Amino acid sequence: MSRKIKNKRLGVCRLCLEEGMLSFEHFPPKSTFNKKIRYFHLDPAEMSTLDWIDDGKSNKRIYEGPLGDHSLCEKCNNFLNKEYVEAFRKFAYSTSHIISSIKPDSDTVYFTIEGLNLLRIYKHIISMFISMNDIWYSKDTYPELTEYVNNPNQNYLPDKYRLYLYLIRPHSFRKLSWSMVNDIGAISEFAFYPFGFVLSYNNLILGNQAHLYDLFPWKFFNIDRESTVEFLLPILETHLPIPLDYRQKDTLRKFI
Ligand SMILES: [Zn+2]
Repeated sequence: MSRKIKNKRLGVCRLCLEEGMLSFEHFPPKSTFNKKIRYFHLDPAEMSTLDWIDDGKSNKRIYEGPLGDHSLCEKCNNFLNKEYVEAFRKFAYSTSHIISSIKPDSDTVYFTIEGLNLLRIYKHIISMFISMNDIWYSKDTYPELTEYVNNPNQNYLPDKYRLYLYLIRPHSFRKLSWSMVNDIGAISEFAFYPFGFVLSYNNLILGNQAHLYDLFPWKFFNIDRESTVEFLLPILETHLPIPLDYRQKDTLRKFI
């Protein structure tokens, strides 16, 4: 048995919902800094026992390697590569270049990027949320998301889904499956350098939180259209595994 086959697993693809051999899906794509990463992982239950603020402590769990899961079949994996990955890669590279050139203490950045295919980027971001969440979300709870990603030309997605963007610095990380947040509703959040994304369901006021950048208009664009976008984005910190918690280390220290 070849190594490639051994690395596959039997399961149900979260995008086409067919049962078969699933290959390892990198999210974000391997070409956007996801080859070998090093990140801290903290379960909510460990928050009271670990000194998670202090970088020097050795009792943090450190993970290394690409981030991803056996979530998609090879056909869907190839489909994403063909349709969406390049548009997302361009956005990630341009943004990382900008973050690396600003002051370390900046918490907001203003910049312009030309030639972005907004619909393909938007669909790729949604596909990452599909890959990182359990199968029943794409199958039963949020079927419109899979339909939207599966059809490259579809530029309609119900307004109950909202997608927000922020920026993070290298080595920050957050991966939170769909969960209910008090007063806000269903949220899933994913942050991997240089981006953080929040996907919300049935909540229209989330953008006020931490000045998240609302990607709402992007989902209506034409599949072939490239745009110049002016961004004003917050650079946020993601120390705790809590959705929408962007408190800085100095603030968190006061709670210890
Ligand atoms: Zn599939």
